[in-house]
Amino acid sequence: MNIQKAKGTYDILPNQVYYWQHLENLIRKICETYNYKEIRTPIFESTELFVRGVGESTDIVSKEMYTFDDKGGRSLTLRPEGTAPVVRSYVENKLYVDGQLTKLYYMGPMFRYERMQKGRYRQFYQFGVEVLGSESPIVDVEVIALSVQLIQALGLKEVKVAINTLGDQESRKAYREALINHFTPVQQELCSDCQKRLNQNPLRVLDCKVDRNHPSFAKAPKMSDYLSPSGKDHFDTVLNYLDLLKIDYVIDESLVRGLDYYNHTVFEIMSNVEGFGAQTALGGGGRYNGLVEEVGGPAVAGMGMAFGLDRLILALEAEKVAIANQNYLDAFIVTMSESQEALAMKLLQTLRQNGIKADKDFNNRKVKAQFKQADKLNAKFTVLLGETEVQQNRVVLKNMKTEVQTEVAIVQLVNELKLRLEE
Ligand code: AMP
Repeated sequence: MNIQKAKGTYDILPNQVYYWQHLENLIRKICETYNYKEIRTPIFESTELFVRGVGESTDIVSKEMYTFDDKGGRSLTLRPEGTAPVVRSYVENKLYVDGQLTKLYYMGPMFRYERMQKGRYRQFYQFGVEVLGSESPIVDVEVIALSVQLIQALGLKEVKVAINTLGDQESRKAYREALINHFTPVQQELCSDCQKRLNQNPLRVLDCKVDRNHPSFAKAPKMSDYLSPSGKDHFDTVLNYLDLLKIDYVIDESLVRGLDYYNHTVFEIMSNVEGFGAQTALGGGGRYNGLVEEVGGPAVAGMGMAFGLDRLILALEAEKVAIANQNYLDAFIVTMSESQEALAMKLLQTLRQNGIKADKDFNNRKVKAQFKQADKLNAKFTVLLGETEVQQNRVVLKNMKTEVQTEVAIVQLVNELKLRLEE
């Protein structure tokens, strides 16, 4: 029987991995530029963390978690998202004690038992940032600015930033009640998910893809009518600063995001490129001022966002952004016979110890086949151990592009190669 990959997962093969490495390198560089530090948390956590931190009524907790009991009878869950684990770690390690702003980023696999489709997997990769310790709306702007800089640095153009506010606790509560009053008379006409959501988390009804065209939606109350003065101030400052930094956005009052913990600013970054598929959200995030307390910590405000790396890669492909393939060699050593094996291996080691990306054949192939292999591996130079040359402690260096060959003393090989690789 052939064993195949588990449903909803995929392999990233060597001929695609350079896309990922490029993306990961860029993410690290931009996070460093913005003074965010990396944090790595475990792949699995107590189930309770996500139930409390993400919210029982969310799709994630109610139907998408990979939950299992370990041999000690503890209920564990493969992390479905990164914020709750980071906040758990922040609280557990008391990162708040110095009273400073804590700016963190993470990158890694997440797991959700979802219906498979293009851009939606059961194991997928997220990069996210979390800023803990400030209620300032300018922090929201920084997080959006970082997200937009990443999109621009990647070379993606067909992208839209949508933004909304859910207001502070007070505004959110008033709005919540208005939604319940509005939708209750038509509750029976809504999908079964929305019937449940209406009482648990009515904001999520607005997000429903099934009921979107129901006539009651067009007349639904708007958050902006329920914003308290402080909620409005917060949002206005965010918008003013986005304008100041010349970051384009559209206000989308139906944007509520899927997780329970958001308040104030929420935003999403979407791909507009044609043929991208139904899953257009590349990333998004928002403010979560009550979450740290919910997870057992002090009253510390938070703001964060997460991008799906899988979808960023799909967007790069859809927009045909060229990324240099790093699959090349500086040098490939070609031997004339098996008797040269020891010398070849010694030379190879010397090249590698000097930072020269080099390889050789390990299957006693004929000279012609070795040159073919060098070509296939995109070797810039071959180092041929010619019989007579080797007797004189020399080798033949061939530039594979120009096909120019020169003899080089073995002791000079590293220097000579380095010089020519710089040309
Ligand atoms: P969320 O944590 O749901 O706000 O998701 C943040 C980002 O992660 C989304 O915008 C997607 O890019 C990505 N994402 C979420 N779920 C999946 C999934 N099942 N497969 C691939 N990417 C996902």
